[in-house]
Amino acid sequence: MEQKRTGLSYVFTLAKEERGKLSLGMLLAVFSSALSFGPYLVVYQILLLIIKQEVTLPAMLGWAGIGIAAAVLQAILTSFAGICSHTAAFNTMHRIKVRVLEHMSKFNLGFFQEHAPGQIKTTLFDDVDRIETFLAHSTLELAQAIVVPLMMFIFMLRLNWIMALIMLVPMILGIAIPMALMGRYPDLTDEFAGDTEKLNASANEFITAMPVIKMYHLTAEKFEQYRNSLKIYTDCWIKMCESSCNPLSIALVVLDSAILFTLPVGGWLYLRDSLSAASYLLFILLTMCFFTSFLNMVTIAMQSMELGSGLDNVKKIMDMETMKSGQQTLSQTGCYGIDFDNVTFNYTQGGKDALSDVDIHLEPGSLNAFVGPSGAGKTTAVQLLGRYWDVSSGTIKIGGVPVTELQTENLSDLTAFVFQDVFLLEDTLLENIRMGTDATEEQVRQAAKAAQIDDFIMSLPKGYATRIGDEGVKLSGGQQQRISIARAILKDAPIVVFDEATSYSDIENEHKIQLALQNLLRGKTTIMIAHRLHTIRNADKIVVFQDGRVVEQGTHDELIASGSTYSHMWDTYTRETIGEE
Ligand code: ADP
Repeated sequence: MEQKRTGLSYVFTLAKEERGKLSLGMLLAVFSSALSFGPYLVVYQILLLIIKQEVTLPAMLGWAGIGIAAAVLQAILTSFAGICSHTAAFNTMHRIKVRVLEHMSKFNLGFFQEHAPGQIKTTLFDDVDRIETFLAHSTLELAQAIVVPLMMFIFMLRLNWIMALIMLVPMILGIAIPMALMGRYPDLTDEFAGDTEKLNASANEFITAMPVIKMYHLTAEKFEQYRNSLKIYTDCWIKMCESSCNPLSIALVVLDSAILFTLPVGGWLYLRDSLSAASYLLFILLTMCFFTSFLNMVTIAMQSMELGSGLDNVKKIMDMETMKSGQQTLSQTGCYGIDFDNVTFNYTQGGKDALSDVDIHLEPGSLNAFVGPSGAGKTTAVQLLGRYWDVSSGTIKIGGVPVTELQTENLSDLTAFVFQDVFLLEDTLLENIRMGTDATEEQVRQAAKAAQIDDFIMSLPKGYATRIGDEGVKLSGGQQQRISIARAILKDAPIVVFDEATSYSDIENEHKIQLALQNLLRGKTTIMIAHRLHTIRNADKIVVFQDGRVVEQGTHDELIASGSTYSHMWDTYTRETIGEE
């Protein structure tokens, strides 16, 4: 059978830095459990005194004092054990979350397209939180559930081996019955974890797509999708309950009625003079607490089955290969050419090529434009340059160095992308431009000035301290793009990729963006994904994409003179724009 479940050992591997605290917590928990027998032993001793008719006030007070001291010590040890396990669990949770996030940040974009945000969230929060709960609580219970019954069993064996073995009968039945009847439970917990992910993903999609859903009256259909996920989730939950309720109830009843085994056998042994009255009483008392501590084991077994599928998800992510970083670096102050050598790429293995045999050479410091109909491969080409994805075959080079051989951070330093979709952090405008760099406020302001957005920011009551999202500040598409240009100016990367907006809200905005661009692109090697052809008439090179291939490249005049694809596009474009005017 395929070894699929990751098991408890993986939890302890994840918590390896906290093993000291966890072990101490478990040790203290075992001592505290051992002390929980204090009251029973005190009762036993008092019964002995009664049987022997030796009851005296000092003896009674002495035993009562011992009982109280045991209870106080037990409370103290329990609390210290909890502190140890909770600290270890929180530290581990924090460490796993950071590690998973760091690991994910090294994947290329494909991972995030294949996994819905809801799915990722489930792993990052719900699954990891379950590990935390397990470490904080179940490890202590696990130690208690194993060590305490074992200690008691050894003690009972020494007292009377027949009675000790009789006590094992309900325990064996309590384990065997659920194991025999719950064969499907582990599979169901896996299925449940998958259904939870799907439910989260569709809830997330539903909420994210709310504006479109409302606009197109898709509510019913979308609800349908959410309702379906919810139904599958609920059905699976019911199946899990059905599969576990009966076996567990039987096991609980068997364990709870353990006294029915020890009482008659003990009575029989007592009548045959093989068991003293005191030992008989002690066995009756111990039967009760033996099974309370053993019951914990059943609960932990259930929790660890549920933990298993969450662990699988965490392990799957941690085992995924990250994008391999190269070793070489290029100076950020240099000026570099770009080469696409015979590049082919498809998003899905065996699927249609999004780019086929693309060959492009762009001179250092040149202004270049990628043009072509929608879906022709322009965005894919520039994203391959930034290693958002890795090529299927061929090579992309910056300054003669393949991008795969550059250190990941260096590649990021060398390139600045200004896309139409601007991602804004829920933070101040200052931090939205600074983007984690150590630029001073003055440098941020200079960049914002060059990006023609400083005037707008200064007109806000809180200026650069204005937070995006709240305080009623909403940025127009043009303003967002200028923020994005300011970021790129501040980054001062030698290569700039600019995705021109398909429409501008007004002439003033367009004018400001043109000015901002002039400041951004000065002295850089630039690729502009252009939609409005008049903006790139002066480009050093225009590369024409069609259906994943480069069909033409050259200057505007050369391409017009050739009378081919670009010149037709130009004709259509000029007719449409003149028509608009
Ligand atoms: P352009 O930028 O010229 O509009 P794209 O590079 O976005 O074109 O798309 C090129 C081709 O790749 C299209 O057929 C598009 O459907 C496909 N494509 C783009 N992004 C993805 C993706 N994330 N997954 C699968 N196919 C994609």
